Amino acid sequence: MTAYLASIEAGPDCRYPITDVIYNCPQTGGLLEVRYDGAPSDPWTLKQVWRERRMSNHPIDQSGVWRYRELFPFLDHERHIVTLREGNTPILDACLAAQYAGLDRLRFKHQGFNPTGSFKDNGMTAGVSQALRLGMKRVACVSTGNTSASMAAYAASCGLEAIILIPHGNIAFGKLGQALDYGAKTLQVEANFDQILALVRVLAEKLGIYLLNSVNPFRIEGQKAIAIEMMDQLDWEAPDWIVLPGGNLGNVSALGKGVKELYEQGFINRLPKFAVVQAEGSSPFYDFMQAPSRTGFVANPHPETLATAIKIGDPVSWPKAWAVLGTQGIVEKATEQEIADAKAIIGKCGIGCEPASAATLAGLKKLVAAGRIQKNETVVGVLTGNVLKDPDYIYRYHTGQLTGPQGEKLASTHGNAPIVVPNDFNQIAKLLEKT
Ligand SMILES: *Cc1c(COP(=O)(O)O)cnc(C)c1O
Repeated sequence: MTAYLASIEAGPDCRYPITDVIYNCPQTGGLLEVRYDGAPSDPWTLKQVWRERRMSNHPIDQSGVWRYRELFPFLDHERHIVTLREGNTPILDACLAAQYAGLDRLRFKHQGFNPTGSFKDNGMTAGVSQALRLGMKRVACVSTGNTSASMAAYAASCGLEAIILIPHGNIAFGKLGQALDYGAKTLQVEANFDQILALVRVLAEKLGIYLLNSVNPFRIEGQKAIAIEMMDQLDWEAPDWIVLPGGNLGNVSALGKGVKELYEQGFINRLPKFAVVQAEGSSPFYDFMQAPSRTGFVANPHPETLATAIKIGDPVSWPKAWAVLGTQGIVEKATEQEIADAKAIIGKCGIGCEPASAATLAGLKKLVAAGRIQKNETVVGVLTGNVLKDPDYIYRYHTGQLTGPQGEKLASTHGNAPIVVPNDFNQIAKLLEKT
């Protein structure tokens, strides 16, 4: 298969070499994606090959992304692959969360099990590999936290210099800590995500730095593997629904591309539907999808939510996400309280996730209540980030100290505050008897 870059809007003749350093179509300005001439080997053979690779000790076979490399063959040499054994994330049954949502059964694919604790690793392994292949020396991104943590790790592991721009004062400490620890040059800019993205695009072009935000089509290619691995784990039986949070909308674009290609190439025999959940204070895509049109996207200049990973007012990938949702998909939005309570329920399942991930369950509960998702349908929710990313939020929730973006007090509905006790056997014993 030959790989090339194509505009998602222009006609089939509008194609560019896979080694061009471009992030938008030079003709239309629209988003680019990676496409391939020809088809991969037959599904039956490839499914066997991928199963066998699970027993291999070869690093690229052990990667839950590169194991499926036949479906994104854009590199011309395996020596460019930079892997931290990303992917390989479990699908976990969550009974309590199913009950909470009103579903018979609910499973979570937990991307927080990735090497840096979020699904960004699935895409970053591909983006950084492409940077290496292009001979780039420096990579950059703006990030609400997880993209920078991931980029810093992958860049460090192959000797590239990482430059990170983050909104000052608006990032979970776990994520900032990771970027510093992985040695990235970290700039805290006094602006919001959308403003900094505009800035970093200019910086990248003028200074010859490779841009690794999700506008980079190679990140989307790597993230496709989330869908491929999910289907492999489900023995190639597509669920009725895949539900995930939406911020910049790269993830839904990637999973959508993934399942569409799997379907067209005969790996699965039906298409799952997608539901995207946004935080209410940061939901421009929800608003757009009420009456979608090519020119109708209105950005939110002041996005607000404690779920910082989805605090994005001007999502770059909305045209791709729109195409994925088509007529079958849904967008829902959830309040700060709904997200916080859903997060506590996911925690109580023994699973846990970061706030943005919990939008998945909060949205699901509303969609089931509204009859848009049926009780007996099969649903896989994507938990995008690890519970340890934002411990401050957890502590505040459980101790009744969590306040929303407007300073409003949020209820500790499922709170589980620590109890301070004296060093006294009798008092502690008494306390434990009561429960
Ligand atoms: C990046 C991120 C999101 C948002 O994903 P998009 O691709 O920007 O829509 C959600 N949750 C977590 C934990 C993230 O890191």
